[in-house]
Amino acid sequence: MPSLNKIVASTLPLLPRWLVRPFASPYVAGESFDEAKKHIRSLNEKGFKTTIDILGEHVKDKVQARAITQHYCDLYYAIKEEQLDCNVSIKPTHIGLDISLAEAMANAHHISLAAKETENFLRLDMENSPFTDATLELYQHCKQIHTKTGIVLQAYLHRSIDDVNRLSRSGLNARICKGIYRESETIAYQNDVDIVENYFRLVKTLLSQSGFCAIATHDLSLLDLIESWIEENDISKDQFEFQVLYGVPMKGRLVSLLNKGYAVRIYVPFGSAWFDYSLRRLKENPSIAGYVIKNLFKQK
Ligand SMILES: Cc1cc2nc3c(=O)[nH]c(=O)nc-3n(C[C@H](O)[C@H](O)[C@H](O)COP(=O)(O)OP(=O)(O)OC[C@H]3O[C@@H](n4cnc5c(N)ncnc54)[C@H](O)[C@@H]3O)c2cc1C
Repeated sequence: MPSLNKIVASTLPLLPRWLVRPFASPYVAGESFDEAKKHIRSLNEKGFKTTIDILGEHVKDKVQARAITQHYCDLYYAIKEEQLDCNVSIKPTHIGLDISLAEAMANAHHISLAAKETENFLRLDMENSPFTDATLELYQHCKQIHTKTGIVLQAYLHRSIDDVNRLSRSGLNARICKGIYRESETIAYQNDVDIVENYFRLVKTLLSQSGFCAIATHDLSLLDLIESWIEENDISKDQFEFQVLYGVPMKGRLVSLLNKGYAVRIYVPFGSAWFDYSLRRLKENPSIAGYVIKNLFKQK
């Protein structure tokens, strides 16, 4: 029998956008930068750093990939002008990686130059495994242009520990996350216990090798584990930050992290592609529907 999550995931695409909007709204900071910047400013005022992402992925058309590239470049200048504490995260297939590596390289090159000129930071998100190697190549390229560049490594992938060890040799700034796509058991851990164990291992390895670690998770017991290890090992506060997705309830944990003097960054997505984005996420991983349902019924 299909689970409730699967039923919700398969029903949402049949509904009109206005009806689906409330499902996406807690997690999306509007359709334009003008809307998103209000949320960012309010987060900054509360002491949170932010990273912004224009929703969208798997662009197949060069004209569109280049327009999005320009939009990202403009964002860097707008962030500077608005004096926001905000950097930028980009999905490589949004700027052409699903067209060709050459197309994405050329576009990422422009974005890196804008990041450099505005003295800001660029992070490349990690998508599903057919794009892992190419994304790491993009990362190396961008890092040559602008050292303030980071990558994402997924704890469910068996390969990630080797990636940490290899990339750490040249100074690594990595966001560690569990991984959101469905991957085969030949390349990825499938159960949460193994993923959490590998997550913890990746964080310890990266921090022990003096890399910068963006600890991206909403898993409170995993956060307990990492926080204790950080305190026991006297890891310097400028070597890591905590990251969460905009709108995900954290039971007061973010404020307590701030009170301890830790940096907390909120990932703020915006854009007109919120509908397709939300549906694709749901199709790839119907268990996300569970979060949506929980969010609908949670006490405000
Ligand atoms: C800042 C940030 C950036 C990310 N970037 C990437 C990336 O580049 N590539 C990639 O593959 N994945 C990315 N992810 C997603 C990540 O891989 C996980 O799929 C996601 O964070 C859920 O795992 P978790 O560690 O929060 O633990 P879980 O055990 O899955 O979640 C812990 C609890 O948090 C809540 N929760 C988790 N996610 C959500 C949600 N979306 N909405 C509502 N509640 C939720 C649930 O209540 C859950 O019980 C990112 C996550 C974050 C926080």
